Amino acid sequence: MNTETENIYKELGISDKVYRFSKEILDSLKQRFCEIDQTAEYNQLKVIKAMQDNKVSEACLLGTTGYGYNDLGRDTLEAVYASVFHTEDALVRPQITCGTHALALALMSNLRPGDELLSPVGKPYDTLEEVIGIRPSKGSLAEYGITYKQVDLLEDGSFDYENIKKAVNEKTKLVTIQRSKGYQTRPTLSVQKIGKLISFIKGIKPDVICMVDNCYGEFVERLEPTDVGADMAVGSLIKNPGGGLAPIGGYIVGKKECVENAAYRLTSPGLGKEVGASLGILKDFYQGLFLAPTVTAGALKGAVFAANAYEKLGFAVVPDSAQSRHDIIQAVTFGTPEGVIAFCKGIQAAAPVDSFVTPEPWDMPGYDSKVIMAAGAFVSGSSIELSADGPIKPPYAVYFQGGLTFEHARFGIMKTLQSIADAGLVTF
Ligand SMILES: *Cc1c(COP(=O)(O)O)cnc(C)c1O
Repeated sequence: MNTETENIYKELGISDKVYRFSKEILDSLKQRFCEIDQTAEYNQLKVIKAMQDNKVSEACLLGTTGYGYNDLGRDTLEAVYASVFHTEDALVRPQITCGTHALALALMSNLRPGDELLSPVGKPYDTLEEVIGIRPSKGSLAEYGITYKQVDLLEDGSFDYENIKKAVNEKTKLVTIQRSKGYQTRPTLSVQKIGKLISFIKGIKPDVICMVDNCYGEFVERLEPTDVGADMAVGSLIKNPGGGLAPIGGYIVGKKECVENAAYRLTSPGLGKEVGASLGILKDFYQGLFLAPTVTAGALKGAVFAANAYEKLGFAVVPDSAQSRHDIIQAVTFGTPEGVIAFCKGIQAAAPVDSFVTPEPWDMPGYDSKVIMAAGAFVSGSSIELSADGPIKPPYAVYFQGGLTFEHARFGIMKTLQSIADAGLVTF
């Protein structure tokens, strides 16, 4: 029955051996994929219910210009986000330019000079180092007299409760918890674990604001951090919740006061959420959110497929083939630059856009080694679309994520397998 499919894989450069190896791996994942589909089903219904409860109408899909007063679509979308995340309020705007901006906004608007910020889960995402002032930067929190404390995770990835307790003091105003491992090797935190950490911290200091960097985590589980006590969750619309359709944007969901502070900072004191024209972007925000649960599920299946394929070939993978998933990122350690480069070339060759481009390692600003990146995305830099990158330094690991459809993610991984085989790094 599959001759046409096998033939088109062949036309796309996949050998019989790689095809059969991939097929075998996939056949072993039926149960796993079924569980992912069940989560997607629940989350799809959660999103539809939020849209219905908030009476999304055709008029909501149109935008405003100028000041953007009385923007029905924008205000309704924010109500929909608040319903999906079970929060009092939400700020969802194209004027929030990326995930880092959303996080910076949430932090800067809710902290005041003399306050202290605490990360009880180790070093935050690279770009936040300059926001906080861990690496000096103009306009950092440090410049405004906001101090920072960090408690690293223990060797086994668990929370260092003893030192967290010691770190919370009278100045501690906000606790930032990064859900995803980002580009580190620590485990990603499950929503349940985040809930436990928040309870512990609130037990010490009930009025502390608990914020979760939710990037890459949305819709991977049925619960979100705001279901387990987070006062704010923050993320990017060119990752999971934009469903691949949002061309820009970020969100902050949470307690009314926290969101209001953020809105006053984003626009201006006194104006807050009242201004900010949505222009023509709302249809993509709504439709992207509508697609986000199944798009995330496809990306998740791609990550599981890759973990199983590369583990079988003898490479170290994080998370491993069987571990439960709490974000969409997959790391594969090759141990050689050639492996990282061949993998990225495979991802690029599978792209719908720019498939003919050959990615090369380059000196990217802000990194201390060369980095190779593969992406052929409809939205520039979108990492819910299939993409990969790896710093050219030991342990020579590649991080990849995304895929708007599982079929594309699967094909992308098959191209990487073909690419590393063609480079003579494995035999099938
Ligand atoms: C992507 C990401 C960010 C930053 O988002 P940008 O849109 O790249 O600015 C922050 N934290 C985590 C965990 C991320 O994955």
